[in-house]
Amino acid sequence: MARVYVIANQKGGVGKTSIAVNLSASLAHYGRRVLLVDLDPQGNATTGAGVDKSEIERSVYDVLLGECDVGASRRRVEGGFDVVGSNRDLAGAEVELIGMDKREYRLRTAIDAVRADYDFVVIDCPPALNMLTVNGFTAADAVIIPMQCEYYALEGLSDLVGTLRKVKQNLNPAIEIEALVRTMYDPRSTLTVQVSDELKRHYGDKVFDTVIPRNIRIAEAPSFGKPVLLHDPASKGAQSHLAFARELLERSGHAVA
Ligand code: ADP
Ligand code: MG
Repeated sequence: MARVYVIANQKGGVGKTSIAVNLSASLAHYGRRVLLVDLDPQGNATTGAGVDKSEIERSVYDVLLGECDVGASRRRVEGGFDVVGSNRDLAGAEVELIGMDKREYRLRTAIDAVRADYDFVVIDCPPALNMLTVNGFTAADAVIIPMQCEYYALEGLSDLVGTLRKVKQNLNPAIEIEALVRTMYDPRSTLTVQVSDELKRHYGDKVFDTVIPRNIRIAEAPSFGKPVLLHDPASKGAQSHLAFARELLERSGHAVA
């Protein structure tokens, strides 16, 4: 049965989508069956995984509104994983969900139906703590939080932790923070090192050893519709994403061949 990860941070531009796409590709590289779900109306994970978002017939929007199931909306991409894509249609879902029954559980119900098909489900969230993100939290077993080691990062993190506490109390008692992953990491910056140390003091071993460096190959890969692993497998960017996936697998007791 799949373990479901939600990639969340209410800040934009911290590397959520990049982690979602590249973690999916890296887990697939290690032979795992992976489903990537794009929960952001911007559809960047969709494009980054190689799906043309203007051509999606059935998106995560249709899944959330109960108009189709995951099986009818997923498609296989070159990276060797499945994607349920998203596009602008999803921006309306927030309002449309308001009147719906069990609106916080719609993604969970849809994913539960395909849990047996996968080892991992990876959900990419919008940069907000809204009803879409709440659907992601409710559907997930664990949260992966990408963060840049900047001055305001810790403040943002305590808001996120507060929201997760409420989700745990009211909607999904099983949810846990599994990983804090430092992205766009620059070890030459004193501030990065200070914030990083602070992070470890507060969150201990939730902070993964693997860091994702700032790397041009990671930034340019989405314009080719490819995970960095297919764009330039030898790059530091691709190798760091593989290392992150390995750390995640090893910590959760999976052997990595
Ligand atoms: P979010 O989903 O949190 O908004 P993205 O993953 O879209 O963040 O990243 C924001 C921008 O930074 C994108 O242009 C992305 O390609 C780039 N980016 C993400 N991670 C890295 C990295 N490790 N090195 C360089 N650029 C990165
Ligand atoms: Mg994003």
